[in-house]
Amino acid sequence: MTNDHSEEARLMKQMDEKISSCRLCRLCETRTKAVPGSGNIENPAIVFVGEGPGKNEDLQGKPFVGRGGKLLDELLQSAGLERNQVYITNIVKCRPPKNRKPKPDEIGICTSNYLENQLDILKPKIITTLGATALEYFTGEKKMWANHGRISYSRKSGIPILPTYHPASIFRNRSLKDILQDDLKKVSKIASEN
Ligand code: URA
Repeated sequence: MTNDHSEEARLMKQMDEKISSCRLCRLCETRTKAVPGSGNIENPAIVFVGEGPGKNEDLQGKPFVGRGGKLLDELLQSAGLERNQVYITNIVKCRPPKNRKPKPDEIGICTSNYLENQLDILKPKIITTLGATALEYFTGEKKMWANHGRISYSRKSGIPILPTYHPASIFRNRSLKDILQDDLKKVSKIASEN
């Protein structure tokens, strides 16, 4: 049976437009481009959620295109996944100045207006959080070492969550690469099962 995903495509385009012109929080004042997300919008099995755009993402309007993004591509490929099979987005859609952590009010505004709506449209089988900010947003947990690679559930939507480290953390600690790789293989396996 083939599915017509034109309604999802229309709703995601509408969401991209809202995000691109958003002025609901202070991050709009310093952004170059908002970064709604990119990838498969036709029922992706996996949605990856990072923290927020960095410098390169802010310039290009696309998520994970800098050094961390190249590493993410490599890790996805080793796990048998292509970027265009999955959807990739962030907790906040505009770059926080000097890459500071997003503030609680910025996270609240951005997720309630955008991220949760994107997830409602995309209906992924599973979400993989990349880094501590996304882990805490979805689950309330702070300890990555105790939670990565273990399934829990989004406090808001109930969607299964498999957390892992942020790709950029590997630049500070190379030994995390094998852990991240194993977590991505796990999520790839779950996504391919019926
Ligand atoms: N870091 C993130 O969390 N998201 C991006 O899009 C880029 C870097």
